[in-house]
Amino acid sequence: MASLFLFIVVRWLATLSVSDFSGTEAESHEPLGQSEIIFLGTGTSEGIPRVSCLTNQSKTCPVCSKATEPGNRNRRRNTSILLRYTSSAGRFNILVDAGKFFYHSALQWFPTFGLRQIDAVLITHSHADAIGGLDDLRDWTNNVQPYIPIYVPKRDFEVMKKTHYYLVDTSVVVPGAAVSELQFNIIEEEPFVVHNLKVTPLPVWHGGGYRSLGFRFGDICYISDVSDIPEETYELLKNCKLLILDALRPDRSSSTHFGLPRALDEVRKIKPARTLFTGMMHLMDHDKVNEYLAKLMETEGLDVQLSYDGLRVPVNV
Ligand SMILES: [Zn+2]
Ligand SMILES: [Zn+2]
Repeated sequence: MASLFLFIVVRWLATLSVSDFSGTEAESHEPLGQSEIIFLGTGTSEGIPRVSCLTNQSKTCPVCSKATEPGNRNRRRNTSILLRYTSSAGRFNILVDAGKFFYHSALQWFPTFGLRQIDAVLITHSHADAIGGLDDLRDWTNNVQPYIPIYVPKRDFEVMKKTHYYLVDTSVVVPGAAVSELQFNIIEEEPFVVHNLKVTPLPVWHGGGYRSLGFRFGDICYISDVSDIPEETYELLKNCKLLILDALRPDRSSSTHFGLPRALDEVRKIKPARTLFTGMMHLMDHDKVNEYLAKLMETEGLDVQLSYDGLRVPVNV
C-alpha cells in the first residue's frame, strides 16, 4: 500500500513542471524575452589559472597571470552552458553539465543574469569536469525547487551509481541529511524532449573507445569534449547556425580533445554560420587567439571566435 502511494505521488510529480512549485519566471507577467545561451564555463578540467603556474618561481605563465585579473576573459572554469529557453509554456533553464567548478560558476553567473531555478540538467559524459558538481545541486533542491530532472546516458548513469551513489539511491542517506533530489532520466543516442524542446544527442568520441555526447537544440550544436566525430554524426550537424566546439590548445590535438587546427578543419567541413570554441587550456590566450581567428573571417569567411565565461548569446530555438 505504501509503495502504491509512493508510486502515485511520483507519477503526480512527474506531471508537474519544476516551475509549478515556486515563484518563477514562467509565472511572472513580465515579457519572457528571447532564448539565449549563457556560457557558465569555457575552460579545461583543471581550470584557468593553474595553481602551479602561479606558484612557479622560475617562469611566468602569461595567460594564467592575466587570468588572475578581475574580469579577464582568460579566467575559465569547467565547460558548461545554460540554455535559457523561452517557449509558449514559459521560460526554462536547461543546464548542460555540472562539473567540479559548477558552484563557482553559478555563484558568479546566476545572480548576474537573474537565473534562479534549474529546470533540467543534460549530461555529456561522466568525467569529473562534467558531473563533479552534482552534489552542489542540493542548494537548489533544498531551497529553490523540489527536484531537478537529470538526462544522462545509461553508461554514465552506471558511473554515477559509483561516484554519486547517495544521490542515485537516496535510501543510503542518513534520515534528515540533505542531499540533492535528482530525478534521473536515461537517454539513448536518439532525440528526446525536455520542456517541449527537442534535444538531439550528437554522439562523438572523446578518446579511443570512449563516447561523449554533444547536444543539438534547433540550429545550435554544442560539442564540448571530442577527439573524433563519427560519420553518422555529421548528418546531425547539417545546417547548423551556431556551433560550439571543443578546442583545447593552439597547436595540436590531444588524445581526448580537438586542438585548434583540427577544430578549424571541422568547422570548414561542418560549415556552421558561426562558431564559438570552448574547453580552452592555459596555452590559449583569449585576445591573441581571437585576433588570429578574426583574420580567418577576412581570408576564408569563417566566423570563428573563442567563447569566454559569462558570454551571453541570443538564440532562436
Ligand atoms: Zn598557466
Ligand atoms: Zn571529459
